[in-house]
Amino acid sequence: MLEISHLSLRYGRHLALDEVSVTVAAGETVVILGANGAGKSSLLKAVAGLAAPSGRSRITHEGRSILGKAAHLVPETGIALVPEGRGVFGELTVEENLLLGANPRRARAGEAVRRKLVFELFPRLGERRSQLVRTMSGGEQQMVAIGRALMSNPQYLLLDEPSLGLAPIVVKELFAALRGIKETGVALLLVEQNVSISLAIADRGYLLEAGRIVGEGSAAALKTDPAVQNAFLGAATGH
Ligand code: ATP
Repeated sequence: MLEISHLSLRYGRHLALDEVSVTVAAGETVVILGANGAGKSSLLKAVAGLAAPSGRSRITHEGRSILGKAAHLVPETGIALVPEGRGVFGELTVEENLLLGANPRRARAGEAVRRKLVFELFPRLGERRSQLVRTMSGGEQQMVAIGRALMSNPQYLLLDEPSLGLAPIVVKELFAALRGIKETGVALLLVEQNVSISLAIADRGYLLEAGRIVGEGSAAALKTDPAVQNAFLGAATGH
C-alpha cells in the first residue's frame, strides 16, 4: 500500500497542496483528476522525492516512511515516476534510455526479462531500439519514458499526464499499453486532465482542485459525478 496522508506542499507563500490524502493499494489503478495548476504534478513530485512537503505530511510505502528520501533512492523502494515532459535522453538510443532505467539494485537481475516485456508492450520501441530518441515522435518518446520507468521493476508506477499533447489515436495506444502494465500487477497512480480515458482504466479516482481533494470514488461513480464535469468547466472559464 502506498499511503499519502495530510500532504502539504508550499512554494514560498503559495500552498500548492493542502492536507491531501490518497491511497493506492498493491495492483490498483488510481487516477487524480484535476485542471491545470490543481497540484497534480506537485503530488507526484512529493512522492518521488523531488519536492519537500511540509506540515504533518506522511508518505509511506508498505508501512515505511519514504518522505525525505532522496529522489535517486525512491526507485530502490519500488516506486518509479514518469515525469511531465518525459525526461528522456534525446541524444541516446531507445535501448540506452531503457538501460538507464535498470540502474536500481532491485532491477538488475531481471533486466533482460523486463526489456522483453517493454518491447512486447511497445512493439514500436523494439523496431526502433537503435534510434536516437530526439528523432522520435512525442508519443514514441512517452513510450520510452514509460518503458524506462518499467525497467526499474516498480510495484508502483506514477504517471504525470501521459496523454498531454498527444493525438487521440496515440493516447489510445498508450493507454492500451498502460492496461497491459496494470495486468502484470503493477499499481498505477496516474494524474490526468483527460477524464474519460483515465476513468476507463482506473479502479478509483480523486478530484483535486486548488490543492485540495474535493471528491473521490470508484471510477464508475466518478464517471457520472457532476462535480467532475463542473471542476473542469470551472477551470476552463477561470473560476
Ligand atoms: P499542470 O497540469 O499545469 O502542470 P498541476 O496540477 O500539475 O498543473 P502543479 O504543477 O503541481 O499543478 O502546480 C500547482 C501550483 O503550484 C500551481 O499554481 C503552480 O503555479 C505552482 N507551482 C508549481 N511549481 C512551482 C514552483 N517551482 N515554484 C512556484 N510555484 C510553483
